[in-house]
Amino acid sequence: MTEWVSPLPHPFLEDRHRVLAERLRGEWGPGLQNAQAKFDAGEFDEDSAARAFVAVLSREGLLEQVLKGGVRDLCVAREFAAGVSGFADNQLALQGLGSYPIALAGTESLKDRFLSPAERGEQLPAFALTEPEAGSDAGAVETTAAKDGDHYVLEGTKTLISNAGLASYYCVFARLAGSKDTVALVVEGQAKGLAVERLSVLAPHPIGTVKFQGCRVPSSQRLGDEGEGISLAFRTLEKFRPSVGAAALGLAQRGLTESREHVRRRQQFGRPLAKFQMLRQKLADMLVAAELAQLAVYRAAWLLDGNQANRSERAQASSLAKLTATEFAQQVVDETVQLFGGRGVLQGEIAERLYREVRALRIYEGTSEVQRLILAKELLDSDSNAE
Ligand SMILES: Cc1cc2nc3c(=O)[nH]c(=O)nc-3n(C[C@H](O)[C@H](O)[C@H](O)COP(=O)(O)OP(=O)(O)OC[C@H]3O[C@@H](n4cnc5c(N)ncnc54)[C@H](O)[C@@H]3O)c2cc1C
Repeated sequence: MTEWVSPLPHPFLEDRHRVLAERLRGEWGPGLQNAQAKFDAGEFDEDSAARAFVAVLSREGLLEQVLKGGVRDLCVAREFAAGVSGFADNQLALQGLGSYPIALAGTESLKDRFLSPAERGEQLPAFALTEPEAGSDAGAVETTAAKDGDHYVLEGTKTLISNAGLASYYCVFARLAGSKDTVALVVEGQAKGLAVERLSVLAPHPIGTVKFQGCRVPSSQRLGDEGEGISLAFRTLEKFRPSVGAAALGLAQRGLTESREHVRRRQQFGRPLAKFQMLRQKLADMLVAAELAQLAVYRAAWLLDGNQANRSERAQASSLAKLTATEFAQQVVDETVQLFGGRGVLQGEIAERLYREVRALRIYEGTSEVQRLILAKELLDSDSNAE
């Protein structure tokens, strides 16, 4: 297996994070690579591959440890997983993203039923916020939850929902019927009135549209109070934002490592590509991009793990990390394709796979433009936002 794990030589991580990175390498590395190879060979379809990745991630209680740990643990884990397989990283992220609203606001009984099995990898969760008319403007959700005795009745459509059709349950964010308030509900995957249409995206992972028609959800499956729905969604996204940057970093490091090997091996004009000044500069620039991404990601994760920063500083660091790492990773991976020449766009080549895997990271969990909006808001209005 290619050696690319980050040496983590900076002050934002502690020895225990380096120990975790080594454990992940041993426990996850071969299993994730094997599942990816079976998917590439057509032995696994998307759903089987997703389940296989989660099974590997859950070994030795590591998934639970990573999800219950701090933001740095999550970032170390996503950086590693993405370096092996962007698909595996998606599944890791979803186990957390889809269950974290329950960790934030679920009753003990909901935590037992839904959160713990997701943390152990026994159930696959989904996070259902985006709608056809509410993407970047997530607060504009139109799916309604109408109170009917001790149930809510859901009507509406969620789209681009990862794990759609595969999830044991969905954390759904809806508007209370006849009100501006929002509510978060846990809806079982098999619930009557819930239908899924699968979609196909650039880099495979299970995703689809989820339609609710007269879908009755017991009030006991509400997360937090009425009125808290969207804020729970945003608090979840805040925790996971730097980790999207960490996944991008994993992809960038893989691209850099594969590029280094390729330019040393590939000969043109009687010399290895690595001897050409123009390409040496490319490699240097890729290294700079990956290092800057790493600093931004772990600085944000360190800030979020501690309690010395105020809300504005945390928001700024998280957005900066996601924006920097995903944009830099895109550049690094694009150069990887370029350095591989024609091979770079051949299906089945690592450069081609990285190119497909890196793209969505600049879009989901807040596009690059939305991160810039957040940064500008913090910069210009920070007095009113500071704690
Ligand atoms: C692979 C993948 C997985 C996903 N998984 C999930 C999931 O599990 N759960 C979930 O709820 N959602 C998920 N999403 C949805 C994702 O969060 C949205 O795609 C994202 O928030 C952008 O929304 P949109 O697609 O509607 O784009 P739009 O909001 O329509 O944006 C289109 C373009 O306009 C820009 N834009 C929008 N508003 C502004 C503004 N005010 N200023 C400047 N530019 C602006 C955007 O940056 C973007 O470039 C996923 C998406 C992808 C691609």
